[in-house]
Amino acid sequence: MDSISYLEASARTASTQFHTDKVDADLLASALKQAIDTGNRLDVIKKSLFYGKDLDKNHPWQALKNHHNGTIDLNQIEPDVVHAAIGLYTEATELLESVLSTIEGQDFDAVNTFEECGDAEWYLAMLYRALDKTPAEARAANIAKLKARYPEKFATDAAINRDLAQERAILEAHNES
Ligand SMILES: [Mg+2]
Repeated sequence: MDSISYLEASARTASTQFHTDKVDADLLASALKQAIDTGNRLDVIKKSLFYGKDLDKNHPWQALKNHHNGTIDLNQIEPDVVHAAIGLYTEATELLESVLSTIEGQDFDAVNTFEECGDAEWYLAMLYRALDKTPAEARAANIAKLKARYPEKFATDAAINRDLAQERAILEAHNES
C-alpha cells in the first residue's frame, strides 16, 4: 500500500473526538512531563548504547536502576530492534514536548513537528530492515486489522472493546505472506 492510499485509508478509522470535558489540561500536562522525563533518560542511554558516548556514573538516573541479578540479557535481542524502539520513543518525546509547550502557551511549531515525522520514519525503516519487512506490508496489515475492528468507520465501542484474538490472527496471516 502506497503512502497516499494509506493516508486516505487510515483517516476512515481515526477518532474525530476530543473530550476535554473528561481529561483536564493539568492531568495531561503531568503525564506528558513524566513521559518526557523518561524519554530524555532513554535518549542518554541510546547515545551510550549506540554511539559509544560515556555515561555519567554519578548521574541521578543511575539511582533509578533496578538490579535483576543476571536474569536479563541485552544479547537476547537484535540491537536494531532495541535501537528502533528507543529511537521511536525519543522522537515521540520530541512530539510530546511540542504538545506540552503549545498547551503551556507557546506557538505551535509545525516545522519542528514535521521534522519528527521524518525522524520517526528513519527509526521505522531500521525496524523494517530488522524484521525483513516493508512499509507497504505493515500498512496493508494495519488496514486489514482496522477493517475488522471498524467495519464502517471509527466507533467508540469498538475502540474500547477490542477482539484481540481476531486482530492477532489477521496480523499473523499478513506476517506469513
Ligand atoms: Mg527528532
